[in-house]
Amino acid sequence: MTENSIKKEKKNFLEVKDLKKYFHLRGGIIDTLLSREPEYVRAVDGVTFNIKEGEVFGLVGESGSGKTTIGRLVVGLEKPTEGTVIFDGIDLSSLSNEEMRKLRRRMQVMFQDPTASLNPRMTVGEAVSHPLQIHFPGKKANHRKMMEEHLERVGLSPASYFVNKYPHEISGGQRQRVVIARALITTPELVLADEPIAMADVSVRALLLDLMVRLKTELNLTYLFITHDLATAKYICDRIGILYLGKMAEEGNLRDVYSKPLHPYTQALLAAVPIPDPHQRRTEEMPEGEIPNPINPPSGCRFHPRCPIAEARCSEEEPFLRELLPGHKVACHYAEQFLE
Ligand code: SF4
Repeated sequence: MTENSIKKEKKNFLEVKDLKKYFHLRGGIIDTLLSREPEYVRAVDGVTFNIKEGEVFGLVGESGSGKTTIGRLVVGLEKPTEGTVIFDGIDLSSLSNEEMRKLRRRMQVMFQDPTASLNPRMTVGEAVSHPLQIHFPGKKANHRKMMEEHLERVGLSPASYFVNKYPHEISGGQRQRVVIARALITTPELVLADEPIAMADVSVRALLLDLMVRLKTELNLTYLFITHDLATAKYICDRIGILYLGKMAEEGNLRDVYSKPLHPYTQALLAAVPIPDPHQRRTEEMPEGEIPNPINPPSGCRFHPRCPIAEARCSEEEPFLRELLPGHKVACHYAEQFLE
């Protein structure tokens, strides 16, 4: 590895600082007349993390943890209530709509459901070349060639066979490859992959993950990888952040978090990961109870109603994310007991 590449690796490509997103539930004229307090869903409530250039950072959490909202904030599809997103040194809040539109070429999204994200009336060729018409309208002569190259690159080969197919004429795994080709055709640097294999057949998931890993290396991509599934995160991520109810519970290198989880929630998630062996059964289950309501989250530590080791302090005092081991952070008052 050259000195230059080491320097490049250390660069923070994305910096997310104290990000908050509250969605108004009520607060209209009737509530004003009735003097009712406005209500919010606190989807994201003060989340901070960085992603280095060329890294795969996984945001892992159950449904309702805020991970998809964070992804949308990072690529400018939503505006934050508070906090900042800095991409390659550019503060997104400082950009006009036109500047944001131009920057979006460098930040693309792979959505979860290829059936929903592909227009059923567009052929594969039209869908994949569509972003080129938006971002490079003056280079039409090259569009066809680039589109075919990208179809081949994601394994839809020969491209000529797929170009005129409609989404319903190809398999689910092939549709997901179309979504990947469409996201990569503008040569982005940051890719938000939002549960990119969740809808794919189990038999093709590993193939799609292998494809994403290969493309990351070939195209020098940085991924923000969103998933509810720790087994998937283990396959592809360099570092992960565990989200619980809009807050970061734990963050660190994948290996550290897997080998020494410091938060009771991470421990529960890991214990619930299925073992792909019919002779071994899990005895562990997720802690009882649903994720609480983000409109009125629990006081103190948000995990305390489900935490097996909660103490009285936990319902009164919020634990902040702190670095307990080098690069390994946790938001729990009592995490030291897991260091041994
Ligand atoms: Fe459990 Fe308390 Fe730690 Fe929260 S702060 S995870 S409730 S022990």
